[in-house]
Amino acid sequence: MKTEFSLAQLADPDIAEADKILRACVHCGFCTATCPTYVLLGDELDSPRGRIYLIKEMLEKGKPPTPEVVKHIDRCLSCLACMTTCPSGVNYMHLVDQARVRIERDYSRPLTERALRAMLAFVLPRPGLFRVGMVLARLARPLAALLPTPKAAPVPGLLRRIKAMLALAPAGLPAAGPSGGSVFPAVGERRGRVALLQGCAQQVLAPRINQAAINVLTRHGVEVVLVRDEQCCGALTHHLGRDGDALARARANINVWKKEAEQGGLDAILVTTSGCGTVIKDYGFMLREDSDFAAGAAQISALAKDITEYLAAIPLHPSSQKGDVTVAYHAACSLQHGQKITQAPKELLSKSGFVVKDVPESHLCCGSAGTYNILQPDIASRLRDRKVANIASVKPDMIAAGNIGCMVQIAGGTSVPVVHTIELLDWATGGPKPGL
Ligand code: SF4
Ligand code: SF4
Repeated sequence: MKTEFSLAQLADPDIAEADKILRACVHCGFCTATCPTYVLLGDELDSPRGRIYLIKEMLEKGKPPTPEVVKHIDRCLSCLACMTTCPSGVNYMHLVDQARVRIERDYSRPLTERALRAMLAFVLPRPGLFRVGMVLARLARPLAALLPTPKAAPVPGLLRRIKAMLALAPAGLPAAGPSGGSVFPAVGERRGRVALLQGCAQQVLAPRINQAAINVLTRHGVEVVLVRDEQCCGALTHHLGRDGDALARARANINVWKKEAEQGGLDAILVTTSGCGTVIKDYGFMLREDSDFAAGAAQISALAKDITEYLAAIPLHPSSQKGDVTVAYHAACSLQHGQKITQAPKELLSKSGFVVKDVPESHLCCGSAGTYNILQPDIASRLRDRKVANIASVKPDMIAAGNIGCMVQIAGGTSVPVVHTIELLDWATGGPKPGL
């Protein structure tokens, strides 16, 4: 794609990067076929190619984004299916991330939307506040049910979004899991030492997931540490275009993880929420221009691994075969498109004896996408219903996924139990049956 940035514009490293990405695009449109929003809405401007044009124009003009640009960028799930499909290697992720930052910086949203986004960016990364928020949401749910359900609209209103948010609140919350600073020694001879990302929303909604990871790792000779003073990885605010917050969190985490690696040694930083893993693996890029953090960020990104990526290199010892349990494997976008991890989770489950079924249209997002199911509830619920129907077609006993956001989203549309892949691996190697 031909670009027309001035030399002055190209002196900005972000514009230089955008220029490189835009020039790689040959307008072929292959990406449109796998883009969930184009599949649903059929509008070129809701396709990757259309959005690339919009971003190009916005950056070239150097003017504040128009409402039209914002509408179509906001509808993008950042699912990255387009990157898997693109034959030219266009890095859409870095382009849309940059667009979101510009929108957040230069576009004035309506007051209610600004307030909602500010609240999400403040509460979600803080587990203590998030827990309180979930309790309040649960209490408010009966009241929200009395309110009329607004019709689907091109840009959903506040009431529709609040109702979507309340609908995601669970009936109850489990007790908190172990805190930062905890160390779980390996059982038997130690073969490795890893940090396990504690996460923010996940540690409130489902601490059982990281407990299952600790069980499997220690059972197979790996010491696990929950690093003290670790923060939210920054993914939630990064996807809201609030890079000041996201980069501050990244820097804080780099400091504490590097310290832990120097003091106790770390073979890897393991992540059980693939949305977080994708962003931590991108710290090296996000902080490439920061001379104080660029090297450390690259080092941390190299250490970050999805839990299944790490376990694939360890011979697991299933203690019982689960040949009578059929599992539909839901490939989280951040895992399959963001990190290109497609086979490891399924192979681990198969080797552990589960009957693993691929889900039709597995490349299409379930609609979770961070805060997308709150901010774009109509598209999100259509994607969820489509995903649930595809899953039902393989008649599973259970659904496995590697991302808490997908788990909550899918569970909202089915009665089939939804568990994390690591919970099934824990069960197969001697742990408890997932409590669900
Ligand atoms: S990230 Fe997903 S929703 Fe956004 S343009 Fe690419 S395929 Fe479409
Ligand atoms: S598939 Fe790649 S090269 Fe083709 S239009 Fe999409 S982003 Fe551009």
